[in-house]
Amino acid sequence: MSLAQRFAAINEQVRLACERAGRDPGQVGVLPVTKTFGHEVVRQAMALGRQRFAENRVQEMKEKALALNDSSIEWVIIGYLQTNKVKDVARYASEVQSLDRLDLAQALDKRLQQAGRRLDVLVQVKSSQEESKTGLLPEDVPAFLQDIAQYDTLNLKGFMTVAENTDDRKRIRDCFRRVRQLRDQSEDQLGWALPVLSMGMSADYELAIAEGATELRIGSALFGQRPPPQ
Ligand SMILES: *Cc1c(COP(=O)(O)O)cnc(C)c1O
Repeated sequence: MSLAQRFAAINEQVRLACERAGRDPGQVGVLPVTKTFGHEVVRQAMALGRQRFAENRVQEMKEKALALNDSSIEWVIIGYLQTNKVKDVARYASEVQSLDRLDLAQALDKRLQQAGRRLDVLVQVKSSQEESKTGLLPEDVPAFLQDIAQYDTLNLKGFMTVAENTDDRKRIRDCFRRVRQLRDQSEDQLGWALPVLSMGMSADYELAIAEGATELRIGSALFGQRPPPQ
């Protein structure tokens, strides 16, 4: 299948899942995850009308940004972000979906002020008990939202999560539901809308749609298998 056919196939699956969930497909976007794939893959996707791409490593985002040198591209960071990488984030990224701690918010704010920029952010929530997962614990979210409200360089749009890695569909769906409920509570707490729920990947995006996802982070279903991490 060509990349265009893969995009079309995913869009069709999204449309069907929205129909089953009684949702408007216009409210659910696909965010292509280009990590481990070269910048020529990004170029192919751009030729199909895409301009927003997700990377999990800052260095890799920077390399692709420099190679492509196209200011219409919006780079989104979805991986664990070390505080010493914020300079390149402030320079090249348009959004961070993996905001999970206060020292990171503070470091981002400082760099963004220097650059005279704002950044869209999602708070990453740890929605399962797995050791390997990063993100803020749900019970720590209300205080965290109060704390980051002081940084007006950070434009809080909603939440991101990675569901439990399991074949048990009910457990996966529970992860997504937890984050949606947390979003609803957070809107009540803050008194404004947090419209974005970045949830669902190649293997579980249909469940995420059923629980209200507005952005699906899709890598392998579009670009093929990634080489295993070294
Ligand atoms: C790699 C990655 C994805 C995409 O995963 P696929 O299973 O290839 O669709 C989504 N979200 C995060 C945080 C990732 O690191």
